[in-house]
Amino acid sequence: TSFEDCEVHQTLLENIKKLHYNKPTPIQKYSIPVSLQRRDLMACAQTGSGKTAAYLFPIIAKMLNDGPPPSQNTVRGAVPVSLIMAPTRELSIQIYEEALKFTYRTGIRVVVVYGGADPKIQSKELDRGADIIVATPGRLIDFTNRGRITLNLVKYLILDEADRMLDMGFEPQIVIILEKMNKVRETGMFSATFPQSIQLLAADLMKDYIFLSV
Ligand code: AMP
Repeated sequence: TSFEDCEVHQTLLENIKKLHYNKPTPIQKYSIPVSLQRRDLMACAQTGSGKTAAYLFPIIAKMLNDGPPPSQNTVRGAVPVSLIMAPTRELSIQIYEEALKFTYRTGIRVVVVYGGADPKIQSKELDRGADIIVATPGRLIDFTNRGRITLNLVKYLILDEADRMLDMGFEPQIVIILEKMNKVRETGMFSATFPQSIQLLAADLMKDYIFLSV
């Protein structure tokens, strides 16, 4: 199997090629077809496994396939189609940088928001529109409360390092964020471990999900 075997937008394949991702890693090989078939996914994967591309590739492929995103009305703030949540600023930035490379010349706009930085600069970025938002939970709630981000049109939701998010005490924030979202969506969870707390969260967030462990 290769990325080229996937029936996805040519621009995405070109971007993958430029990154010299010649062969999918195991997590990519198993999770990409599942996500392209629009099934929910719970994947146990470590950092370094290629998990970021494992969820970015199918999300971007589906967004390009779905057609142009709903027009951005910046008066209402950003209305993303995809939301990727991560526990830390560092991880959010890493995901953002990979997403930028994947979306090069696609017209898809990616914005990252995280705590501990000036919200004004992030707010300005949001005002220019955001199709994919990468976020840490606390700052995401701040922006939704201020009407700068609206989550009810999110179709693709990812929780990255879900176990770490629970360890850091983000469960109440995750619950608040989920209440702002449409139930009709596709969800993927990525976690290094699969303790009972993660199993319960997965059961809460998804139904009939595919479980993968690499
Ligand atoms: P991650 O587990 O998502 O943090 O990715 C770990 C590293 O592997 C990152 O530096 C990626 O750029 C790289 N990577 C991801 N997928 C591939 C691939 N299919 N081929 C080569 N490198 C990859």
